[in-house]
Amino acid sequence: MSPASVPSSNDIVRRGAADLGAAIADGSLSSVEVTQAHLDRIADVDDSVHAFLHVDAEGALAAARAADEARAAGETRSPLAGVPIAVKDIVATKGQPTTAGSRILQGWIPPYDATVTTRLRAAGLPILGKTNMDEFAMGSSTEHSAYGPTHNPWDLDRIPGGSGGGSSAAVAAFEAPLAIGTDTGGSIRQPAAVTGTVGTKPTYGGVSRYGLIALASSLDQAGPCTRSVLDAALLHEIIGGHDVMDSTSIDAPVPGVVEAARRGDVAGLRIGVVDEISGEGFQPGVRARFEESLKLLEARGAEIVRVGCPSFVKGLAAYYLILPSEASSNLAKFDAMRYGLRVGPQGVASPSAEQVMAATRDAGFGDEVKRRIILGTYALSAGYYDAYYGQAQKVRTLIARDFAAAFEQADVLVTPTAPTTAFKLGEKLDDPMAMYLNDVATIPANLAGVPGMSIPNGLAEDGLPTGFQILAPATRDDRLYEVGAALEAALLEQWGAPILDQAPALPVREVTR
Ligand code: GLN
Repeated sequence: MSPASVPSSNDIVRRGAADLGAAIADGSLSSVEVTQAHLDRIADVDDSVHAFLHVDAEGALAAARAADEARAAGETRSPLAGVPIAVKDIVATKGQPTTAGSRILQGWIPPYDATVTTRLRAAGLPILGKTNMDEFAMGSSTEHSAYGPTHNPWDLDRIPGGSGGGSSAAVAAFEAPLAIGTDTGGSIRQPAAVTGTVGTKPTYGGVSRYGLIALASSLDQAGPCTRSVLDAALLHEIIGGHDVMDSTSIDAPVPGVVEAARRGDVAGLRIGVVDEISGEGFQPGVRARFEESLKLLEARGAEIVRVGCPSFVKGLAAYYLILPSEASSNLAKFDAMRYGLRVGPQGVASPSAEQVMAATRDAGFGDEVKRRIILGTYALSAGYYDAYYGQAQKVRTLIARDFAAAFEQADVLVTPTAPTTAFKLGEKLDDPMAMYLNDVATIPANLAGVPGMSIPNGLAEDGLPTGFQILAPATRDDRLYEVGAALEAALLEQWGAPILDQAPALPVREVTR
């Protein structure tokens, strides 16, 4: 039976998370119904999309029943209680596989939950499963996943962005109303841009990193992947806030993100266009939609100003030294002794620990991971430290200063999120530099620790979605939601329906239930 003949399921999966949460709270829907509808949708379309590495139907339905029972007992756990969610496979989930898209962690079942996972469970959100990603979150296309790429729901021959392509594709394909991503250089925002969804990278330290498999600890941040700004705010509020398990976690309440998302008032707000990142190298359709979005915000009372951030153009180079340096150190723990894969070297009768480690790392890591480990180890080696890592850290300081100066002139900064729309699978796979260039607009926020969001703002000349990036000062995540909600409302007025409604129908597998 195909969903075409199951209209109720079809309707449920098209509804937003805030709406579903309200329907579950007032009893017009049960969490079990909502969760089952999404599991059915996954069964129907995930053969083509491949957003999920692991689906936990049993666990999700058990959590859904618990959410329904809690509601019947009069408990209100959160506005999203009972609404199911997909989680990027880099976030530890007790009892469920967590591979970070790598063969080296194949079969690893964490004995504990990440703080993000703990908070989702406490708020009553059933976890549908784990989403596909570039190995250890290195990439912009999910093609570096050891388990095969995810396909963009807008065009199955195209990439869904990366590294969190699985989370954004799951949301864009209506397989999940919500997902968790992680963003080290853009892995929430760029997939959001190319799939026509919303993605937020909170302020560094705004969401606990405890239980996230570390890529680059000074850059990593988990955040929401959703179809609307309000849904992102509701999820942000659940996962955000201080955690004693993460020493870099900010000890302050989550800024008023939900209030800001409900208000969406930009009257009198100064919006700074970053001159260095919006012109050259950006696809004409991306630029055109960006300029139109500025006009829409201006019409709602915002003041558009131009700001210069001259060091941003050096961000990419600095990032691709800092990230590999931190990653080479973080990935040293995959030594064949403690987690996942263990491979004995061929033809060695009693191999040493080093030989087993080398054979395991050779078999367990993909090319991109090896490339970055080599680069990072080199950049950190005694004779080169000052020339590479030291220089990159100086650039990082300059970028933070650019932000500080720009935020004197503007309340938020804006750029297109990604230079192009979704490219074809395979197109950039053999060209690391071309792949890295996707991150040019998103990386400065990670280097400076400031929050960023991508909003779908239309379709380019190729009919594919484009993203509008908003950046705010550290701890002022609420401004992202204020501006994001204003732009979303203006676009809704212009288009008459969410942009995602323009996406073509996905082929549906004929299944019998
Ligand atoms: N595309 C970037 C990279 O390859 C971003 C990764 C991320 O944010 N996890 O490093």
